[in-house]
Amino acid sequence: MKNQFSHVSTWVFDLDNTLYPPECALFAQIEIKMTDYVMRELGVNKARANYLRDHYWQTYGTTLSGMMREHEIDPTPYLFEVHDINLDHVPQDLILRGHIKSLPGRKIVYTNGSEFHADRVLEARGLSGIFDAIYGIEHSDFHPKPSSEAYDAIIARDKFAPQTAAMFEDDHRNLKVPHTIGMRTVLVGPKVEGDHIHHQTTDLTAFLSQIVG
Ligand SMILES: [Mg+2]
Repeated sequence: MKNQFSHVSTWVFDLDNTLYPPECALFAQIEIKMTDYVMRELGVNKARANYLRDHYWQTYGTTLSGMMREHEIDPTPYLFEVHDINLDHVPQDLILRGHIKSLPGRKIVYTNGSEFHADRVLEARGLSGIFDAIYGIEHSDFHPKPSSEAYDAIIARDKFAPQTAAMFEDDHRNLKVPHTIGMRTVLVGPKVEGDHIHHQTTDLTAFLSQIVG
């Protein structure tokens, strides 16, 4: 395992359901707020709002992208509102913290959420202060993963070489572009078939222990 990552000097982590387990169900809280936002902003009922959110997710990658493209909403208040969630039940993981710290090279968080959200979650999880950069949707000109524009923007900003980088993600769609541009890909979640997935684990902490151990 260690050998398969020996060329890696930039470690890119998705945030939601990657750096914390899906059991934390933070997305359930965010989803309620996104639906409320769409209902209020477009004056539609809950069923219609959920339908639109699903449509935007399929078509543009995120609810926000759809709302920006089709309704020209201002992303800043949206991002604040939907990510203003309760994190009391997010457990700290100091073993995960130790493993990430021990990875050789640059460590980055890249989320389709906002930097505000990432900062709060990392703090709750005990992972503050160990990443060299934190990028949110606002740093990719609001292009969401899995679009290639999103990765182009983040790579241009961070200036890492994809051939010497690895990407950890719970959404396999978001590993397609990284695989194409030469990154090592790790799916953090249940097994999915696909050539774009080099490694798969349901336990990020255990997986990283094989690399740093
Ligand atoms: Mg995720």
